[in-house]
Amino acid sequence: MPHVSFRERRFEGDVDYVVVGSGAGGAAAAVVLARAGAKVALVEAGAWREPEQYPSSAYGAMRDLMDDWGATVTMGRALWPVVQARTMGGTTVVNSAIAIRTPADIFTQWEREHGVGGEGLRDQVWAEQAVLERELCVEEVPVGSRGRSNELAMKGAEAMGFESHWIRRYAKGCEGTGQCLQGCRKRKKQSTNVVWVPEVMERGGLVLSCAPVSRVVLEGRRAVGVEGRFQHPATRELGASFLVRATKGVVVAASVTHSPVLLMRSGVKNRALGQFFRAHPGTGVFGVYDEPVDQNVGATQGWASTHYRETPGLKLETLSVPLELVASRFAGGGVELMKRLGQYRHVAMWCHAVRAESTGTIGHAPFSSKPVVRYTLNADDMERFRQGMYLLGQMHFAAGARAIIPGIAGLPFQLEAKDVELLRNGPTDPRKYIAILSHLFGGCVMGADPTRSVVDGEGRVHGYEGLVVADASVIPTNLGVNPQHTIMALARLFANAMLARA
Ligand SMILES: Cc1cc2nc3c(=O)[nH]c(=O)nc-3n(C[C@H](O)[C@H](O)[C@H](O)COP(=O)(O)OP(=O)(O)OC[C@H]3O[C@@H](n4cnc5c(N)ncnc54)[C@H](O)[C@@H]3O)c2cc1C
Ligand code: SF4
Repeated sequence: MPHVSFRERRFEGDVDYVVVGSGAGGAAAAVVLARAGAKVALVEAGAWREPEQYPSSAYGAMRDLMDDWGATVTMGRALWPVVQARTMGGTTVVNSAIAIRTPADIFTQWEREHGVGGEGLRDQVWAEQAVLERELCVEEVPVGSRGRSNELAMKGAEAMGFESHWIRRYAKGCEGTGQCLQGCRKRKKQSTNVVWVPEVMERGGLVLSCAPVSRVVLEGRRAVGVEGRFQHPATRELGASFLVRATKGVVVAASVTHSPVLLMRSGVKNRALGQFFRAHPGTGVFGVYDEPVDQNVGATQGWASTHYRETPGLKLETLSVPLELVASRFAGGGVELMKRLGQYRHVAMWCHAVRAESTGTIGHAPFSSKPVVRYTLNADDMERFRQGMYLLGQMHFAAGARAIIPGIAGLPFQLEAKDVELLRNGPTDPRKYIAILSHLFGGCVMGADPTRSVVDGEGRVHGYEGLVVADASVIPTNLGVNPQHTIMALARLFANAMLARA
């Protein structure tokens, strides 16, 4: 099957549907269209990498797999990284593969606030998620792959008396190498580059890698294709141009930051474009244990709790972090840093993700397609954030930690149990915390009102023909749970709706 590289001369192709982006939304839509017998082109900005070629270090992952080296940050009171991938398979390559169904209250909220959703959509999404769970081999982290950090988290939650669970993930027989964030070299994680992109090719589809789309081609208000120039994956040098014409439709699934920018730069007019950006910002607290924890052994994320999803609005999870990222969190240098890093085998990192209400915007710099994310947490969200830190600190001590390392500017490097209240009264200035945004929503939100939304309940861009958005950018609220399962289910529904209209 054709796989066109950036080195070749100008490429032109003709298909029924062209899909921009091969991540959670794009690949899910592409495979549905291809299975129905349509000729599909999947156009991906990032490079094709076999799992055996994935980097082994966090530095290598930033270089080879991340969008903009992971250097996109929120422009707001704090500069927090907005983390997404740029590789064949999108962020499914570097994520932890946690699969969790869309909570029922979300559909009620969407219907009430955005005029889409309700029980009808809920039933359709859950039916798709049941299929996805079978197709992507969703299973609970196997007992032998849990690792000590995950087991200690379960012990901490039990001691504090709140509900929690072993995580269910799109991973078939996880071997617990703790490498999910650098890509699963063992091919256990069912990322889209491993499962669906090859299937699209087997079904006669065309896959373009190293092919950032610069513009959706519009004829009047009808989308008829996409164009751009191939780009070298290492030097970022631009190469030959490409044009893919599509007779039946263009699906944009380039992520929360890139989809709105692509539509803006294509000339799509809509007041809500780039608005209503949301996220689940989060960070972690290290616990220091007398026993070796070896957090790099075991599933990257094996334990979670949704107990605090509604009040105060938090999800708690474990996360194994490689040594170089731990070094970036342990303040200091020289002998002092080496001494601190000497504890590496004894530390466990547990995180919270805030179900934040704050909204931001996506835009782009003048004459550039680089997204600009404007976002700052409001006072209520910072209070949630602070409560998350306190809960994690308490959990570590409940699990038997001798100290915690909270990583909050202005507080001591290490705290003992008697000092945990310092977290409850910790700073509310976001600049005092090192956090990241990995669950992103909005920018092309769906809704019934074209003045407050970009797409309708089937992903169609209001006022345009043949133009659908099928990624996390359509999600109009936060979810309070990990988003991939919701994104994939919506993308499948949108693709089926396109087929029904054809
Ligand atoms: C570290 C990390 C861990 C996570 N863990 C989980 C988890 O365990 N479970 C979960 O549910 N969620 C998780 N998430 C979130 C989840 O991975 C994302 O929400 C999801 O992948 C977003 O899907 P998407 O289709 O919107 O975008 P993506 O999956 O990011 O795909 C977008 C694709 O579009 C491509 N693209 C961008 N611009 C262009 C362009 N102009 N032309 C062509 N292609 C373009 C990108 O290169 C990318 O491949 C995690 C995220 C991160 C960063
Ligand atoms: S923990 Fe290791 S084996 Fe398991 S899915 Fe992640 S990278 Fe693959």
